[in-house]
Amino acid sequence: MELENAKTIIKKAAEKLNLSQEKLNIILNTERETKVNFPVKMDDDSTKIFTGYRIQHNSLLGPYKGGIRYHPQVDLNEVSALATWMTIKTATVGLPLGGGKGGVICNPKELSDKELENITRAFIKKITPVIGPQQDIPAPDVYTNAKIMDIIVDEYSKQTSTPIEEARAVVTGKSIENGGSLGRDTATARGGQFVLQKAIEQTQIISTLKNATIIIQGIGNAGSNFAKLISEDNSKIIAISDSKNAIYNQEGLDIKSVLEHKKQNGNLQDIPNTTTITNQELLELECDILVPAALANQITEKNAEQIKAKIILELANGPTTPEADKILESKNILILPDILANAGGVTVSYYEWYQNINKESWTAEEVDKKLKEKMFNATQEILNKKTKHQTSTRIAAYINAIERLAQKIN
Ligand code: NAD
Repeated sequence: MELENAKTIIKKAAEKLNLSQEKLNIILNTERETKVNFPVKMDDDSTKIFTGYRIQHNSLLGPYKGGIRYHPQVDLNEVSALATWMTIKTATVGLPLGGGKGGVICNPKELSDKELENITRAFIKKITPVIGPQQDIPAPDVYTNAKIMDIIVDEYSKQTSTPIEEARAVVTGKSIENGGSLGRDTATARGGQFVLQKAIEQTQIISTLKNATIIIQGIGNAGSNFAKLISEDNSKIIAISDSKNAIYNQEGLDIKSVLEHKKQNGNLQDIPNTTTITNQELLELECDILVPAALANQITEKNAEQIKAKIILELANGPTTPEADKILESKNILILPDILANAGGVTVSYYEWYQNINKESWTAEEVDKKLKEKMFNATQEILNKKTKHQTSTRIAAYINAIERLAQKIN
Protein backbone atom coordinates (compact mmCIF):
# COMPACT_ATOMS: atom_id res chain seq x y z
CA MET A 1 0.00 0.00 0.00
CA GLU A 2 1.42 3.18 -1.12
CA LEU A 3 0.84 6.20 1.06
CA GLU A 4 -0.87 7.95 -1.85
CA ASN A 5 -3.38 5.07 -2.21
CA ALA A 6 -4.28 5.27 1.47
CA LYS A 7 -4.70 9.03 1.23
CA THR A 8 -6.85 8.78 -1.90
CA ILE A 9 -9.35 6.48 -0.18
CA ILE A 10 -9.42 8.69 2.92
CA LYS A 11 -10.16 11.71 0.71
CA LYS A 12 -12.97 9.86 -1.09
CA ALA A 13 -14.59 8.89 2.21
CA ALA A 14 -14.16 12.42 3.57
CA GLU A 15 -15.91 13.79 0.51
CA LYS A 16 -18.92 11.55 1.14
CA LEU A 17 -19.04 12.97 4.67
CA ASN A 18 -18.59 16.61 3.59
CA LEU A 19 -15.68 16.76 6.02
CA SER A 20 -13.99 20.16 6.25
CA GLN A 21 -10.51 20.54 4.72
CA GLU A 22 -9.12 21.44 8.17
CA LYS A 23 -10.34 18.17 9.70
CA LEU A 24 -9.17 16.19 6.69
CA ASN A 25 -5.69 17.70 7.00
CA ILE A 26 -5.49 16.63 10.64
CA ILE A 27 -6.43 13.06 9.71
CA LEU A 28 -4.03 12.91 6.76
CA ASN A 29 -0.95 14.22 8.53
CA THR A 30 1.49 12.20 10.58
CA GLU A 31 1.91 13.43 14.14
CA ARG A 32 5.48 12.26 14.65
CA GLU A 33 8.17 10.56 12.58
CA THR A 34 11.11 9.13 14.47
CA LYS A 35 14.18 7.93 12.61
CA VAL A 36 17.04 6.43 14.57
CA ASN A 37 20.50 5.15 13.62
CA PHE A 38 22.14 2.86 16.13
CA PRO A 39 25.28 0.70 16.46
CA VAL A 40 24.91 -3.06 16.89
CA LYS A 41 27.56 -5.59 17.90
CA MET A 42 27.69 -8.42 15.33
CA ASP A 43 28.78 -12.04 15.91
CA ASP A 44 32.13 -11.41 14.22
CA ASP A 45 32.82 -8.65 16.78
CA SER A 46 32.35 -5.89 14.23
CA THR A 47 29.92 -3.04 14.89
CA LYS A 48 27.36 -2.11 12.27
CA ILE A 49 25.04 0.89 12.09
CA PHE A 50 21.36 0.09 11.54
CA THR A 51 18.47 2.43 10.79
CA GLY A 52 14.97 2.14 12.21
CA TYR A 53 11.73 4.10 12.17
CA ARG A 54 8.72 4.58 14.41
CA ILE A 55 5.96 6.49 12.72
CA GLN A 56 3.15 7.75 14.96
CA HIS A 57 0.40 8.74 12.63
CA ASN A 58 -2.57 9.65 14.78
CA SER A 59 -3.57 9.49 18.46
CA LEU A 60 -7.04 11.06 18.40
CA LEU A 61 -8.64 7.85 19.66
CA GLY A 62 -5.89 6.58 21.97
CA PRO A 63 -2.23 5.46 22.15
CA TYR A 64 -0.56 4.65 18.83
CA LYS A 65 -0.76 0.97 17.89
CA GLY A 66 1.00 -0.95 15.15
CA GLY A 67 3.68 -3.49 14.35
CA ILE A 68 7.43 -3.36 13.96
CA ARG A 69 8.83 -5.09 10.89
CA TYR A 70 12.37 -6.24 10.16
CA HIS A 71 13.01 -6.20 6.43
CA PRO A 72 15.70 -5.02 3.99
CA GLN A 73 13.13 -2.89 2.12
CA VAL A 74 11.73 -0.98 5.09
CA ASP A 75 11.41 2.68 4.08
CA LEU A 76 9.79 5.81 5.40
CA ASN A 77 7.05 5.96 2.76
CA GLU A 78 5.95 2.39 3.33
CA VAL A 79 6.03 2.63 7.12
CA SER A 80 4.06 5.91 6.95
CA ALA A 81 1.40 4.30 4.75
CA LEU A 82 1.12 1.36 7.13
CA ALA A 83 0.85 3.73 10.12
CA THR A 84 -1.93 5.69 8.39
CA TRP A 85 -3.67 2.45 7.71
CA MET A 86 -3.47 1.43 11.36
CA THR A 87 -5.21 4.69 12.35
CA ILE A 88 -8.04 3.80 9.98
CA LYS A 89 -8.15 0.13 10.99
CA THR A 90 -8.40 0.73 14.74
CA ALA A 91 -11.02 3.43 14.15
CA THR A 92 -13.01 1.25 11.72
CA VAL A 93 -13.71 -1.36 14.36
CA GLY A 94 -13.97 1.21 17.17
CA LEU A 95 -10.91 0.49 19.29
CA PRO A 96 -9.66 3.23 21.64
CA LEU A 97 -6.29 3.23 19.88
CA GLY A 98 -4.46 5.30 17.31
CA GLY A 99 -2.19 4.26 14.47
CA GLY A 100 1.56 3.73 14.27
CA LYS A 101 4.10 1.48 12.60
CA GLY A 102 7.81 0.84 12.84
CA GLY A 103 10.59 -1.00 11.15
CA VAL A 104 14.29 -1.68 11.06
CA ILE A 105 16.19 -2.01 7.79
CA CYS A 106 17.81 -5.42 8.11
CA ASN A 107 17.66 -8.91 6.65
CA PRO A 108 16.64 -11.32 9.42
CA LYS A 109 17.48 -14.31 7.18
CA GLU A 110 21.15 -13.31 7.40
CA LEU A 111 21.20 -12.58 11.12
CA SER A 112 21.75 -14.90 14.08
CA ASP A 113 19.34 -14.95 17.04
CA LYS A 114 21.92 -13.04 19.08
CA GLU A 115 22.29 -10.36 16.42
CA LEU A 116 18.49 -10.02 16.18
CA GLU A 117 18.35 -9.61 19.94
CA ASN A 118 21.11 -6.97 19.82
CA ILE A 119 19.27 -5.07 17.05
CA THR A 120 16.02 -5.21 19.01
CA ARG A 121 17.61 -3.96 22.23
CA ALA A 122 19.51 -1.15 20.49
CA PHE A 123 16.41 -0.05 18.55
CA ILE A 124 14.18 -0.06 21.64
CA LYS A 125 16.79 1.86 23.63
CA LYS A 126 16.60 4.61 21.00
CA ILE A 127 12.80 4.75 20.74
CA THR A 128 12.01 4.29 24.46
CA PRO A 129 11.28 8.03 24.84
CA VAL A 130 8.40 7.81 22.34
CA ILE A 131 6.81 4.45 23.25
CA GLY A 132 5.01 3.26 26.39
CA PRO A 133 1.79 1.57 27.57
CA GLN A 134 -0.12 4.87 27.43
CA GLN A 135 1.76 6.33 24.49
CA ASP A 136 2.61 3.83 21.76
CA ILE A 137 2.23 0.06 21.83
CA PRO A 138 4.11 -1.85 19.10
CA ALA A 139 3.37 -5.43 18.00
CA PRO A 140 4.84 -8.09 15.70
CA ASP A 141 4.81 -7.59 11.95
CA VAL A 142 6.84 -9.03 9.04
CA TYR A 143 9.74 -11.12 10.45
CA THR A 144 9.16 -10.16 14.07
CA ASN A 145 7.48 -12.47 16.57
CA ALA A 146 6.59 -13.19 20.21
CA LYS A 147 10.24 -13.82 21.07
CA ILE A 148 11.20 -10.34 19.84
CA MET A 149 8.23 -8.80 21.68
CA ASP A 150 9.44 -10.47 24.91
CA ILE A 151 12.89 -8.92 24.35
CA ILE A 152 11.24 -5.51 23.86
CA VAL A 153 9.46 -5.84 27.23
CA ASP A 154 12.74 -6.70 28.92
CA GLU A 155 14.66 -3.82 27.31
CA TYR A 156 11.88 -1.29 27.91
CA SER A 157 11.71 -2.41 31.55
CA LYS A 158 15.48 -1.83 31.89
CA GLN A 159 15.49 1.52 30.12
CA THR A 160 12.62 2.93 32.18
CA SER A 161 13.33 1.09 35.45
CA THR A 162 9.77 -0.24 35.32
CA PRO A 163 9.00 -3.66 36.86
CA ILE A 164 8.45 -6.33 34.16
CA GLU A 165 4.84 -6.78 35.27
CA GLU A 166 4.08 -3.17 34.33
CA ALA A 167 6.38 -3.00 31.32
CA ARG A 168 4.44 -5.81 29.60
CA ALA A 169 1.72 -3.45 28.37
CA VAL A 170 4.30 -1.69 26.14
CA VAL A 171 3.88 -4.31 23.37
CA THR A 172 1.37 -6.94 22.32
CA GLY A 173 1.89 -10.25 20.60
CA LYS A 174 4.04 -11.50 23.49
CA SER A 175 4.40 -15.12 24.53
CA ILE A 176 1.55 -16.31 26.76
CA GLU A 177 4.00 -16.77 29.70
CA ASN A 178 4.99 -13.13 29.36
CA GLY A 179 1.47 -11.66 29.28
CA GLY A 180 0.34 -12.55 25.75
CA SER A 181 -3.37 -13.13 25.18
CA LEU A 182 -4.99 -16.45 24.47
CA GLY A 183 -6.55 -16.41 21.02
CA ARG A 184 -4.04 -13.95 19.51
CA ASP A 185 -2.54 -16.52 17.12
CA THR A 186 -5.91 -17.29 15.51
CA ALA A 187 -7.46 -13.81 15.95
CA THR A 188 -7.03 -12.55 12.39
CA ALA A 189 -8.59 -15.66 10.89
CA ARG A 190 -11.33 -15.84 13.52
CA GLY A 191 -12.16 -12.17 13.03
CA GLY A 192 -12.39 -12.77 9.27
CA GLN A 193 -14.73 -15.69 9.87
CA PHE A 194 -17.04 -13.50 12.00
CA VAL A 195 -17.04 -10.75 9.35
CA LEU A 196 -17.98 -13.29 6.71
CA GLN A 197 -20.74 -14.83 8.83
CA LYS A 198 -22.31 -11.45 9.53
CA ALA A 199 -21.99 -10.24 5.94
CA ILE A 200 -23.68 -13.38 4.60
CA GLU A 201 -26.47 -13.13 7.14
CA GLN A 202 -27.07 -9.48 6.19
CA THR A 203 -26.66 -9.56 2.42
CA GLN A 204 -27.88 -13.08 1.63
CA ILE A 205 -25.47 -13.11 -1.32
CA ILE A 206 -25.15 -16.78 -0.54
CA SER A 207 -27.63 -18.49 1.76
CA THR A 208 -25.20 -20.13 4.17
CA LEU A 209 -21.53 -20.95 4.71
CA LYS A 210 -22.40 -24.64 4.73
CA ASN A 211 -21.24 -26.11 1.41
CA ALA A 212 -20.09 -22.66 0.22
CA THR A 213 -17.10 -23.03 -2.12
CA ILE A 214 -14.00 -21.21 -0.88
CA ILE A 215 -10.58 -20.42 -2.33
CA ILE A 216 -7.71 -19.32 -0.13
CA GLN A 217 -4.52 -17.73 -1.45
CA GLY A 218 -1.77 -18.21 1.15
CA ILE A 219 -1.34 -20.80 3.85
CA GLY A 220 0.60 -18.85 6.49
CA ASN A 221 -0.75 -17.75 9.86
CA ALA A 222 -3.85 -16.04 8.48
CA GLY A 223 -4.62 -18.48 5.63
CA SER A 224 -4.06 -21.76 7.45
CA ASN A 225 -6.00 -20.76 10.56
CA PHE A 226 -8.83 -19.48 8.39
CA ALA A 227 -8.86 -22.76 6.44
CA LYS A 228 -9.09 -24.72 9.68
CA LEU A 229 -11.88 -22.57 11.12
CA ILE A 230 -13.99 -22.29 7.98
CA SER A 231 -13.86 -26.03 7.33
CA GLU A 232 -15.50 -26.42 10.75
CA ASP A 233 -18.43 -24.41 9.30
CA ASN A 234 -18.68 -27.25 6.73
CA SER A 235 -17.64 -24.96 3.89
CA LYS A 236 -15.88 -26.56 0.96
CA ILE A 237 -12.35 -25.27 0.39
CA ILE A 238 -11.77 -26.10 -3.24
CA ALA A 239 -8.33 -24.51 -3.71
CA ILE A 240 -5.46 -23.23 -1.62
CA SER A 241 -1.89 -22.06 -2.34
CA ASP A 242 1.48 -21.18 -0.92
CA SER A 243 4.18 -19.13 -2.66
CA LYS A 244 5.14 -22.06 -4.94
CA ASN A 245 2.06 -24.22 -5.56
CA ALA A 246 -1.69 -23.99 -5.81
CA ILE A 247 -3.86 -27.10 -5.43
CA TYR A 248 -7.46 -27.73 -6.40
CA ASN A 249 -10.27 -30.24 -5.94
CA GLN A 250 -13.80 -29.26 -6.98
CA GLU A 251 -15.29 -31.66 -4.39
CA GLY A 252 -13.41 -29.93 -1.57
CA LEU A 253 -9.91 -30.47 -0.20
CA ASP A 254 -9.31 -32.52 2.92
CA ILE A 255 -7.95 -29.51 4.80
CA LYS A 256 -6.64 -31.43 7.80
CA SER A 257 -4.41 -33.57 5.63
CA VAL A 258 -3.38 -30.63 3.41
CA LEU A 259 -2.24 -28.64 6.47
CA GLU A 260 -0.51 -31.71 7.88
CA HIS A 261 1.29 -32.25 4.56
CA LYS A 262 2.40 -28.59 4.50
CA LYS A 263 3.66 -28.91 8.08
CA GLN A 264 5.57 -32.13 7.40
CA ASN A 265 6.99 -31.31 3.96
CA GLY A 266 6.91 -27.52 3.82
CA ASN A 267 5.13 -27.61 0.45
CA LEU A 268 1.86 -28.45 -1.33
CA GLN A 269 3.33 -30.96 -3.77
CA ASP A 270 2.08 -34.49 -4.56
CA ILE A 271 -0.95 -34.41 -2.28
CA PRO A 272 -3.41 -37.19 -3.18
CA ASN A 273 -6.73 -36.16 -4.79
CA THR A 274 -5.52 -32.71 -5.77
CA THR A 275 -4.73 -31.08 -9.09
CA THR A 276 -1.91 -28.57 -9.29
CA ILE A 277 -2.86 -25.24 -10.86
CA THR A 278 -1.13 -21.87 -11.09
CA ASN A 279 -1.68 -19.11 -8.56
CA GLN A 280 -3.32 -17.08 -11.32
CA GLU A 281 -5.75 -19.89 -12.14
CA LEU A 282 -6.56 -20.19 -8.45
CA LEU A 283 -7.72 -16.59 -8.26
CA GLU A 284 -9.91 -16.97 -11.33
CA LEU A 285 -11.76 -20.18 -10.40
CA GLU A 286 -15.52 -20.26 -10.01
CA CYS A 287 -16.33 -20.05 -6.28
CA ASP A 288 -18.54 -18.36 -3.68
CA ILE A 289 -15.80 -16.78 -1.59
CA LEU A 290 -12.23 -15.82 -2.49
CA VAL A 291 -9.86 -15.18 0.42
CA PRO A 292 -6.56 -13.49 -0.44
CA ALA A 293 -4.36 -14.24 2.59
CA ALA A 294 -0.85 -13.73 1.24
CA LEU A 295 0.50 -10.61 -0.41
CA ALA A 296 -0.57 -7.14 -1.50
CA ASN A 297 -1.58 -6.29 -5.11
CA GLN A 298 -2.79 -9.75 -6.14
CA ILE A 299 -6.07 -8.67 -7.74
CA THR A 300 -5.23 -6.06 -10.34
CA GLU A 301 -6.71 -4.53 -13.49
CA LYS A 302 -5.12 -7.46 -15.34
CA ASN A 303 -7.13 -10.22 -13.66
CA ALA A 304 -10.12 -8.50 -11.96
CA GLU A 305 -12.36 -9.07 -14.97
CA GLN A 306 -11.73 -12.83 -14.68
CA ILE A 307 -12.55 -13.09 -10.97
CA LYS A 308 -15.69 -15.18 -10.50
CA ALA A 309 -16.13 -15.11 -6.72
CA LYS A 310 -19.31 -13.60 -5.24
CA ILE A 311 -17.54 -12.37 -2.10
CA ILE A 312 -13.89 -11.41 -1.48
CA LEU A 313 -12.68 -11.53 2.12
CA GLU A 314 -9.39 -9.60 2.30
CA LEU A 315 -7.41 -11.29 5.05
CA ALA A 316 -4.20 -9.95 3.48
CA ASN A 317 -3.40 -6.26 3.62
CA GLY A 318 -3.97 -4.45 0.33
CA PRO A 319 -4.58 -7.47 -1.94
CA THR A 320 -6.79 -5.45 -4.34
CA THR A 321 -5.50 -2.47 -6.31
CA PRO A 322 -7.73 0.64 -6.67
CA GLU A 323 -8.12 -0.09 -10.42
CA ALA A 324 -9.25 -3.66 -9.67
CA ASP A 325 -11.65 -2.34 -7.04
CA LYS A 326 -13.59 -0.45 -9.71
CA ILE A 327 -13.85 -3.52 -11.95
CA LEU A 328 -14.99 -5.79 -9.10
CA GLU A 329 -17.55 -3.25 -8.02
CA SER A 330 -19.00 -3.09 -11.53
CA LYS A 331 -19.32 -6.87 -11.38
CA ASN A 332 -21.25 -6.58 -8.11
CA ILE A 333 -18.73 -8.61 -6.13
CA LEU A 334 -18.95 -7.89 -2.41
CA ILE A 335 -15.51 -6.94 -1.07
CA LEU A 336 -15.03 -7.25 2.66
CA PRO A 337 -12.07 -4.88 2.88
CA ASP A 338 -8.82 -5.57 4.72
CA ILE A 339 -9.32 -2.86 7.35
CA LEU A 340 -12.41 -4.77 8.50
CA ALA A 341 -11.68 -8.36 7.41
CA ASN A 342 -8.30 -8.71 9.12
CA ALA A 343 -8.93 -6.38 12.08
CA GLY A 344 -9.41 -9.37 14.41
CA GLY A 345 -5.64 -9.34 14.93
CA VAL A 346 -5.40 -5.78 16.22
CA THR A 347 -8.61 -6.27 18.20
CA VAL A 348 -7.15 -9.15 20.20
CA SER A 349 -3.93 -7.11 20.50
CA TYR A 350 -6.06 -4.47 22.16
CA TYR A 351 -7.51 -7.15 24.47
CA GLU A 352 -3.97 -8.24 25.36
CA TRP A 353 -2.99 -4.66 26.27
CA TYR A 354 -6.23 -4.23 28.24
CA GLN A 355 -5.59 -7.41 30.22
CA ASN A 356 -1.99 -6.33 30.96
CA ILE A 357 -3.04 -2.84 32.10
CA ASN A 358 -5.83 -4.21 34.32
CA LYS A 359 -3.87 -7.27 35.52
CA GLU A 360 -6.53 -9.57 34.12
CA SER A 361 -6.22 -12.87 32.32
CA TRP A 362 -9.15 -13.85 30.11
CA THR A 363 -10.01 -17.38 29.00
CA ALA A 364 -9.93 -18.25 25.30
CA GLU A 365 -13.76 -18.34 25.38
CA GLU A 366 -13.98 -14.82 26.79
CA VAL A 367 -11.62 -13.49 24.11
CA ASP A 368 -13.63 -15.25 21.42
CA LYS A 369 -16.95 -13.91 22.70
CA LYS A 370 -15.69 -10.32 22.82
CA LEU A 371 -14.08 -10.62 19.39
CA LYS A 372 -17.31 -11.96 17.91
CA GLU A 373 -19.33 -9.08 19.27
CA LYS A 374 -16.79 -6.52 18.06
CA MET A 375 -16.53 -7.93 14.53
CA PHE A 376 -20.30 -8.47 14.17
CA ASN A 377 -20.97 -4.86 15.23
CA ALA A 378 -18.30 -3.40 12.96
CA THR A 379 -19.57 -5.41 9.97
CA GLN A 380 -23.14 -4.34 10.63
CA GLU A 381 -22.15 -0.67 10.98
CA ILE A 382 -20.18 -0.77 7.74
CA LEU A 383 -22.92 -2.49 5.76
CA ASN A 384 -25.36 0.14 7.07
CA LYS A 385 -22.99 2.93 5.96
CA LYS A 386 -22.65 1.26 2.57
CA THR A 387 -26.41 1.49 2.10
CA LYS A 388 -26.71 4.97 3.59
CA HIS A 389 -23.95 6.47 1.42
CA GLN A 390 -24.59 4.28 -1.64
CA THR A 391 -20.92 3.37 -1.83
CA SER A 392 -18.52 0.42 -1.80
CA THR A 393 -17.87 -1.53 1.38
CA ARG A 394 -14.28 -0.25 1.35
CA ILE A 395 -15.31 3.41 1.31
CA ALA A 396 -18.03 2.62 3.88
CA ALA A 397 -15.37 1.18 6.21
CA TYR A 398 -13.24 4.31 5.80
CA ILE A 399 -16.33 6.46 6.44
CA ASN A 400 -16.91 4.56 9.68
CA ALA A 401 -13.33 5.30 10.73
CA ILE A 402 -13.26 8.93 9.65
CA GLU A 403 -16.50 9.73 11.45
CA ARG A 404 -15.01 8.43 14.69
CA LEU A 405 -11.79 10.41 14.19
CA ALA A 406 -13.57 13.60 13.15
CA GLN A 407 -15.74 13.52 16.28
CA LYS A 408 -12.55 13.88 18.34
CA ILE A 409 -11.43 17.01 16.50
CA ASN A 410 -12.77 20.19 18.09
P1 NAD B 1 2.71 -15.57 6.70
O1 NAD B 1 4.08 -15.11 6.38
O2 NAD B 1 2.47 -16.46 7.86
O3 NAD B 1 2.08 -16.30 5.40
C1 NAD B 1 2.08 -15.78 4.12
C2 NAD B 1 1.63 -16.87 3.17
O4 NAD B 1 1.59 -16.35 1.85
C3 NAD B 1 2.53 -18.09 3.10
O5 NAD B 1 1.73 -19.24 3.00
C4 NAD B 1 3.27 -17.91 1.78
O6 NAD B 1 3.69 -19.12 1.23
C5 NAD B 1 2.18 -17.27 0.97
N1 NAD B 1 2.66 -16.60 -0.22
C6 NAD B 1 3.75 -15.84 -0.38
N2 NAD B 1 3.85 -15.44 -1.65
C7 NAD B 1 2.79 -15.96 -2.30
C8 NAD B 1 2.34 -15.91 -3.63
N3 NAD B 1 3.01 -15.23 -4.56
N4 NAD B 1 1.20 -16.57 -3.94
C9 NAD B 1 0.52 -17.26 -3.02
N5 NAD B 1 0.90 -17.34 -1.76
C10 NAD B 1 2.02 -16.71 -1.40
O7 NAD B 1 1.86 -14.24 6.80
P2 NAD B 1 0.47 -14.01 7.54
O8 NAD B 1 0.73 -13.54 8.90
O9 NAD B 1 -0.44 -15.16 7.32
O10 NAD B 1 -0.05 -12.74 6.71
C11 NAD B 1 -0.65 -12.90 5.43
C12 NAD B 1 -1.33 -11.59 5.07
O11 NAD B 1 -2.28 -11.27 6.07
C13 NAD B 1 -0.41 -10.37 4.98
O12 NAD B 1 -0.88 -9.51 3.99
C14 NAD B 1 -0.55 -9.73 6.32
O13 NAD B 1 -0.25 -8.35 6.27
C15 NAD B 1 -2.03 -9.98 6.59
N6 NAD B 1 -2.36 -9.89 8.01
C16 NAD B 1 -1.95 -10.85 8.89
C17 NAD B 1 -2.26 -10.71 10.22
C18 NAD B 1 -1.85 -11.75 11.22
O14 NAD B 1 -2.27 -11.61 12.39
N7 NAD B 1 -1.10 -12.76 10.87
C19 NAD B 1 -3.00 -9.59 10.67
C20 NAD B 1 -3.43 -8.65 9.73
C21 NAD B 1 -3.10 -8.81 8.40
